[in-house]
Amino acid sequence: AFYYIAGIALAYIFKDNRAFCKYLCPITVFLKPMSYYSLLRVHCDESKCVHCNKCLKVCQMNVEVNKESRKRKNGTDCILCYECTKECPVKALH
Ligand code: SF4
Ligand code: SF4
Repeated sequence: AFYYIAGIALAYIFKDNRAFCKYLCPITVFLKPMSYYSLLRVHCDESKCVHCNKCLKVCQMNVEVNKESRKRKNGTDCILCYECTKECPVKALH
């Protein structure tokens, strides 16, 4: 019951259906830092990017993957599905 009440309330407050996972789940405390410093991540060669935004549209985790910075929006939420790399018309993502 706590999961559903907290999950729905947080999703409503933060307008994010993964708010429970991001802000309450205790596993996140360990996973977020590991994900932030992970060597295995999608890289973006920003000099190749033509800003078509196809990668942003296909990403189900709303990662700002067309930026190379580790501080990109939702960067630690990436699930490494690599759908974005398939969509990029100029092979800027790898
Ligand atoms: S690998 Fe998947 S989750 Fe990660 S940025 Fe690309 S599309 Fe999004
Ligand atoms: S799909 Fe490729 S070219 Fe288009 S915005 Fe993303 S990184 Fe840039």
